[in-house]
Amino acid sequence: MNHFEYGPQGLACEGVPLAKIAAEVGTPVYVYSRATLERHFVVFRDALAMSGVVDPLIAYAVKANSNVAVLKVLGDLGAGADTVSEGEVRRALAAGIPGERIVFSGVGKARREIAFALQAGVAEINVESEPELNLIAEVAAELGVRAKVAFRVNPDVAAGGHAKIATGKSENKFGVSFAEAARLYANASNNANLQPVGVACHIGSQITDLAPMRAAFTKMRGLVEQLLAEGLSVERLDLGGGLGVPYFNHPEPPSPAEFAAMVGEVTQGLPVTLAFEPGRVIAANAGVLVSEVIHVHERPEGRKFLVIDAAMNDLVRPAMYDAFHDIRPVIQRTGETVYDVVGPVCETGDTFTRDRALPPFAAGDLVAFMSAGAYGAAMASEYNTRPLVPEVLVDGDRYAVIRQRPTYDEMLARDLVPDWV
Ligand SMILES: *Cc1c(COP(=O)(O)O)cnc(C)c1O
Repeated sequence: MNHFEYGPQGLACEGVPLAKIAAEVGTPVYVYSRATLERHFVVFRDALAMSGVVDPLIAYAVKANSNVAVLKVLGDLGAGADTVSEGEVRRALAAGIPGERIVFSGVGKARREIAFALQAGVAEINVESEPELNLIAEVAAELGVRAKVAFRVNPDVAAGGHAKIATGKSENKFGVSFAEAARLYANASNNANLQPVGVACHIGSQITDLAPMRAAFTKMRGLVEQLLAEGLSVERLDLGGGLGVPYFNHPEPPSPAEFAAMVGEVTQGLPVTLAFEPGRVIAANAGVLVSEVIHVHERPEGRKFLVIDAAMNDLVRPAMYDAFHDIRPVIQRTGETVYDVVGPVCETGDTFTRDRALPPFAAGDLVAFMSAGAYGAAMASEYNTRPLVPEVLVDGDRYAVIRQRPTYDEMLARDLVPDWV
C-alpha cells in the first residue's frame, strides 16, 4: 500500500497535490511519502516478528535512497543501515543511526573507508574476499582495535529481476565462495585483530520468487551449523535484501509476510540473531518522479514522442535495466494515445518507454513516474549539465525540500580553470 492517490486536485502524495509541489519547487522533482516509508518498514519488521524472528537487525540498504531525511525517518523507527561506502556510513551517522546498527558491505572497500568504519564502531564489516580480510586485519592492527567481520558468502544461486542486479552466482564479483568460507572464518578467529561475528549473503535485487532465496538461506543455515560444530563463535546470520516490489508489469512479488514466514521456517532453532538489508521494498513505492511535458512531437510516419523535462540522468533505471515504471497523469483524463516517452538528453537510451498507451497529453501537463523512490534520485547525475534533481518529503499536509536543486552558479563553481589554461 502507498499514499499516492487521486484527489480533487489530481494525484496527491498524502495530503499534498503533486501539482502544488511542481508549481512551487519546479520539475523534475522526486516526491516521497513519509507515511509510506514508515509503513513499509513497520510491515517488514512486524512480519518478521510474526514469524518468530527475535530482535533482528533490519539494516535499510542506504544505496536505494540515501537522502539523510529518509534515513532519519527510518532510523527513528529503529532501522539500521546497510552501507557500501564511507559516504554512506557518514550519511547513516548524520541521520542519527548509531554505529552498532550499521553494516558496511561492498567488494572494494578502500583502506581509509575501512579505518573510518572501524572508528565509527560499525556492527559488522561484510568481507567479500581474502585480500580484503587481510587489509581489514592490517587496518585494525594499526588502529589497535578488533574488527567485527562477517563473511559475505556467494551461495551460487541465481536470482534477481535482471542480469545487472543478480549477485549470487559464483561468476558474479560478490562474496567469498562457499567452499572457502569455513577456512577463512576459522583463520580470522585466530587473528587478534579480527572478530568474526557471522556470515552474510545477498543474492540479487527485485527478486519475485522465494525459491532461490530459500535455497540460498538453507545453504547459509548449513554453513552456520558447520561453523558452530567446529566450535567457532557465530552471532549473526545476515540474509541481505533483494525482495522485489510490484512495478505493474512484473510477476507479483511475494509479500513481506510470505518472505518472513519462509525465513522463520528456514532459520527455526538456529541460535543466532538475523540481519536483513532491505532497500527497494522499503523505498520504491514510497516515491514518484514528477515531470512536465515539454512538447509532443508527432512524426509524419505516425510515431508520437512525449518529450518531458525529466531524463535518464534523473531516473536511469529504464536506460540501465530496461526497467518499467508506471506513468500516470497528475491530472486524470480520459482517452488513450500511444507514446514513446523520452527525455531531453542527447542519447537514444534516454527513452523511458516505447509504445506506451497513455492518456493524451499536451505541453505543460504533468506526469508522475510511479515506484521511483528506490534507485531513482540516488542514481541521478548532472549529465548534460542538468541540475541534480531535487527531492521533497511529504508528511500529511506539509512538505519540505530535502535536497535542493543546485543553481547553475553552484554547478559551474565546482569546475576550476587553472591559470595556465
Ligand atoms: C543493494 C544491496 C541491498 C539492497 O537490495 P534491495 O534489492 O534494494 O533490497 C542489500 N544488501 C547489499 C549487500 C546490497 O548490495
